[in-house]
Amino acid sequence: MSSQSPSISFEIFPPNPAVGNEKIMVALKEMQDLAPHFISVTASNNKFNIEETTVRLADFIRNDLHIPTIAHLPAVYLTKEMVTETLTALDKVGVHKVLALRGDILPDVEPQKDFVYATDLIEYIKKEAPHFEIVGACYPEGHPDSPNQISDIQNLKKKVDAGCSSLLTQLFFDNESFYDFQDKCILAGIEVPIHAGIMPILNRNQALRLLKTCENIYLPRKFCSILDKYEHDPESLRAAGLAYAIDQIVDLVTQDVAGVHLYTMNNSDTAHQIYQATHTFFDK
Ligand code: FAD
Repeated sequence: MSSQSPSISFEIFPPNPAVGNEKIMVALKEMQDLAPHFISVTASNNKFNIEETTVRLADFIRNDLHIPTIAHLPAVYLTKEMVTETLTALDKVGVHKVLALRGDILPDVEPQKDFVYATDLIEYIKKEAPHFEIVGACYPEGHPDSPNQISDIQNLKKKVDAGCSSLLTQLFFDNESFYDFQDKCILAGIEVPIHAGIMPILNRNQALRLLKTCENIYLPRKFCSILDKYEHDPESLRAAGLAYAIDQIVDLVTQDVAGVHLYTMNNSDTAHQIYQATHTFFDK
């Protein structure tokens, strides 16, 4: 058994710029006393300007809250010049860690040609801005574009070899699929820490959205029963969703996971409740 405690980190997403950042800044301040190892900030793939959204919040997290931060950077709709501009903006605010992503290919929008895969972006950052630390995304149950998990893990190996220091997973509800994935990564020679993405289900709309967009994610019977039983009982659905996430985390830490990355959905109450139930497990 590893004697090292795992890390706990949070993910937030920038609101639509028309809405403004006031609410998310309040939520972030409320998360500050939990002292997460880092907070990652998602980025729009094609819709919003990354500097006005992601970079601005990453700046706030690093420089006002003094919490390490990771800026997500999906590049399939960016040119090399645009990536360089974003890296320069991050440099200016002292954020030097990015989650290098391809981004989803949208059905009606032609991608740019510079970054076909995340690996292309990683190679570009390594060349243009080698002082940046790079994290990659991974998919315990396979990426939806992949014909099978073996080719997905072979591609992941190329991505890590291009220069990722760690990986963050897509959310999952079945820990066994995560353990199986970890074992296959080790066999493939992938040795960087893998942080497990956990999303507590807190309401019916969130659950419905998730079921629509994550068709490759296995939903265990225990999880489906929660959704069925408490479909019309928001309070119980929230309590059961939190309990399910906490149960997943307890299991992960006892199996020596490198880190837990909590998809907070910008909700500081969720972060607090999960932290309160699990904080003794995490590295201080
Ligand atoms: P890649 O690593 O490029 O993989 C995409 C597909 O191509 C996979 O099927 C892979 O097997 C295959 N592939 C990779 N390399 C090769 C190769 N050399 N040859 C052939 N096939 C290859 N999206 C956003 O828009 N904004 C975000 O902020 C965001 N945050 C995310 C955070 C996490 C933790 C995760 C897991 C995903 C996130 N995403 C985000 C979604 C992500 O952009 C999509 O899942 C996207 O479809 C894939 O991005 P990737 O970087 O994993 O792609």
